Amino acid sequence: MALVLDKEEIWVLECIKEAHIDKGFHIRDVIKKAKNGYGLSRSTVYEIVGYLEFHGLIKTNKAGNREIDESIAYFVTCLGCGKEIPGNEYFKENGKQVCEDCYLEGHQKIKFADPVAVRSKKLFRKQHGFEGAEGLTELQKEIYDFILEEGGVTPEKISKLFKLTPQETRNQLAILRHCELLKWRKMGEEMYMVPFDS
Ligand SMILES: [Zn+2]
Repeated sequence: MALVLDKEEIWVLECIKEAHIDKGFHIRDVIKKAKNGYGLSRSTVYEIVGYLEFHGLIKTNKAGNREIDESIAYFVTCLGCGKEIPGNEYFKENGKQVCEDCYLEGHQKIKFADPVAVRSKKLFRKQHGFEGAEGLTELQKEIYDFILEEGGVTPEKISKLFKLTPQETRNQLAILRHCELLKWRKMGEEMYMVPFDS
């Protein structure tokens, strides 16, 4: 069974990494860091270190010191979307661990399914008398037309076909989503962008 660490366990692990020197780490340094950085109590740190030891993530080396066993894999749960991600692939967002997608989404100005953005975009389009693909950029029109023809397309396919980075694709799709020209639909395990009226 995969070892999935929670928020406090990740905090302690980060403190351990900071306190780590060549010969291992001393629990006293970890307690200090965990207390100052995250307000964790001494007993919580001991409890978590014990848990990590139980799972082999922390071992005692030849010198009798505790150290991290880099060969032990662990996962964290993204606090944005709930996805499990490898322990070395998470990002920190306001002290919370999130996956790359959630991190990027938090850092882009245009967010998916943002009700305020949808309303203002709709109002703008109404004021300007835009309907359908009117008022869109050439790229947005092409993407929109393509999705209309296909009936549903994954963001990955859009990235590939239109030679956009995943981030650019997300931004373009977010705009089309805000115009209520497209919406998300889950098909099987994958998320597709489909025409809004479908
Ligand atoms: Zn996520």
